[in-house]
Amino acid sequence: MSGLLNYSASMVLKNSEKSDTQCSTRIENRESRIKKLDLSMPVQYLKGVGPARARTFAQLGVYTVGDLLEYFPRDWNFSPEPIKINQMQPNQTVTVVGMVESTDYQSYRRQPIFEAIISDDTEVCRIIWFHGGFLRNQLKPGQVITASGKVSLYKHQLQMTNPKFLVLDEKSSEPAEYFSGGVYPASSKLSSRQIKRIIRPVLDNLTELVPEFYDKNFQAKANLVSRKNAFSWIHLPPDEAKLAQAKHRLKYDELFLMQLGLALRRVRRRHFSTAVPMTCNDEIDSRIRKRFPFLLTEDQNGAIAEIVADMAKPEPMNRLLQGDVGSGKTVVALYAALLAVANRTQVAIMAPTEILAAQHFLSIERYLKNSKVRRVLITGGLTGKKRTQLLEKIKQGAMDIVVGTVALLQEDIEFQKLGLVVIDEQHKFGVAQRAQLRKRTTPHCFVMTATPIPRTLAMTAFGDLDVSIIRHSPPGRGAVTTRWVNRETLQKAYQFIRERLKAKKQAYFVYPRITVLEENTDIKAATNECKHLAEVFPEFTVELLHGQMPSTKKQQIMAEFRKGKIDVLVSTVVIEVGVDVPNATIMVIEGADRFGLAQLHQLRGRIGRGEAKSYCLLFAETESEVAKSRLEMITRSNDGFEIAEHDLRLRGPGELFSTRQHGLPDLKIANIVDDYDLLVMARKNAFELVRSDPTLTRPKHKNIRRALLAKFGDSLGLADVA
Ligand code: ADP
Ligand code: MG
Repeated sequence: MSGLLNYSASMVLKNSEKSDTQCSTRIENRESRIKKLDLSMPVQYLKGVGPARARTFAQLGVYTVGDLLEYFPRDWNFSPEPIKINQMQPNQTVTVVGMVESTDYQSYRRQPIFEAIISDDTEVCRIIWFHGGFLRNQLKPGQVITASGKVSLYKHQLQMTNPKFLVLDEKSSEPAEYFSGGVYPASSKLSSRQIKRIIRPVLDNLTELVPEFYDKNFQAKANLVSRKNAFSWIHLPPDEAKLAQAKHRLKYDELFLMQLGLALRRVRRRHFSTAVPMTCNDEIDSRIRKRFPFLLTEDQNGAIAEIVADMAKPEPMNRLLQGDVGSGKTVVALYAALLAVANRTQVAIMAPTEILAAQHFLSIERYLKNSKVRRVLITGGLTGKKRTQLLEKIKQGAMDIVVGTVALLQEDIEFQKLGLVVIDEQHKFGVAQRAQLRKRTTPHCFVMTATPIPRTLAMTAFGDLDVSIIRHSPPGRGAVTTRWVNRETLQKAYQFIRERLKAKKQAYFVYPRITVLEENTDIKAATNECKHLAEVFPEFTVELLHGQMPSTKKQQIMAEFRKGKIDVLVSTVVIEVGVDVPNATIMVIEGADRFGLAQLHQLRGRIGRGEAKSYCLLFAETESEVAKSRLEMITRSNDGFEIAEHDLRLRGPGELFSTRQHGLPDLKIANIVDDYDLLVMARKNAFELVRSDPTLTRPKHKNIRRALLAKFGDSLGLADVA
């Protein structure tokens, strides 16, 4: 508290041109006020708020004075200063103040109107509101009102039509201010005007409530107005330019504090946990590379270099590797795994589903033929004595690489020396799961994802991880052509597919549903359509695969498809993950408008894995603009990052990746997509600050630290920073 007082005192001294004595009395006044008013004070103790209103505020998410200051208006009005009625001109937007002389409701008109005649000391003026019947109870002769709106000419007389208006209290001397300023998101129990009245006096104390963080130099350089002005102007903007400056500053602060929290989280993780440092030399490197029957791509080598550098440190790696499906992430993961094994530690490789885990194991087997590395796939089917024996082996350190689902590996499995955890998240992000695992042990952690994370989210939702990216897939991949097909050309499309099948290629048909719902027969479903397709393609083998089948059956069908015994695989989105059949070069997606962009792109990633050209046909009939925009995008672009960014724009960050879902706080004013440039600047500055003061304990950072804890302390789990 004394720090705050000292700070305020110096602010006052700096800003004030008044005498010293005046200053000290002001400081004393301040002191008595501070005791009552601070950001954590419940709103209930504010003037005009009692227990009932406090409950209403709580419904709006406002509990404390700090919340109230961040309860920003959703809109702002800039009404002009009032003029006299005789100064009114047609087509101007004006504010006038006058007494209601008479009112009249003309309900017989085709458009009923409510009319009021008002006068000031210069002139009278007619005001009409279309469909204004409800005003009969609000406007009465004798009242003084202020009205703001556009002036028009009607039968040679000036009048106002549908103006905004307020009935003034007798006491009020500044009518215009009721119109200018913020319009708050209100509730039925609490109007915007009431909220405004409650906030207004709080704004007189901004110097104490929101002390400045930054020094003057930085403020000038970054073009930021003071925090105090920002809060004052966002609620009560003198003009639009100042409002814009206020928004700019508050957005910057919000992003800066969030990034600061992420930077601190990262520092803390490094300081508090240790990991086994892994040596990599030329011998180990070439031994690992010999396992791959191809040269690694530049992107793969880049990612590997970053991983090797991370794993050489005695602090745990936390790296996210992103790259489109088929871009060669598994190879990178296996490199890291073999490096860990070479350093006499164990590796856990986790996938979201059993099919995927099996798939990983299969490709690992392919690369590790005749290798001495001991590896095993743990499946749900493994039970009893066999399981016990295996777990014992793992515990003794007699297994090097263990592959399984996240669920399986999180159970009771104990490792002798776990050096690396590889998590393949495909398109699901499980930040919580990562955290859970981290707690138990401190292996290096490496997460792969096939969903390109837009740059914006890489800096926020994943802002405390290091990120490697594989942008370009290995050479020798056939191009994928995507077309949006309508019903008229269906027969032509079937003919086209038949030609490909005759040439011994295979096809996927994907449906949004397994079976048709009774109430909605429009949506085609895999089970029903499979029969239909068998009739369309009688000379080929058509088989069904869906998520509700027993897992052995699923695996059997997948194996047959891989071997080429099945020509057409009819499926739901279960094939979205982890199927790798290079000979499958055709994909038909029915009801493509029902899938999200990221999902369509994932699905399409199943083809184009061999050298032959591939074709993705999207069947969709939709009137929805969003769906159309998605379909056009996906036919135009093959770049997962571009698609993800577009998806983020269409859906907004909230829906695609809600920040909450990733354990991040909701932002009140900044938007990570629209305010990208600010985000970049805030991130750079925040990370620099933490580099210079990793615990944020220097006196000059006191106010920043305080604001950070108040705003994001809980949501970013920064309790121990305090
Ligand atoms: P991802 O895990 O990103 O989906 P994979 O690692 O499974 O991708 O690789 C997809 C396919 O590409 C595999 O068949 C793999 O053998 C092959 N591949 C990976 N890296 C290369 C490379 N550098 N050159 C040629 N083929 C590669
Ligand atoms: Mg893969």
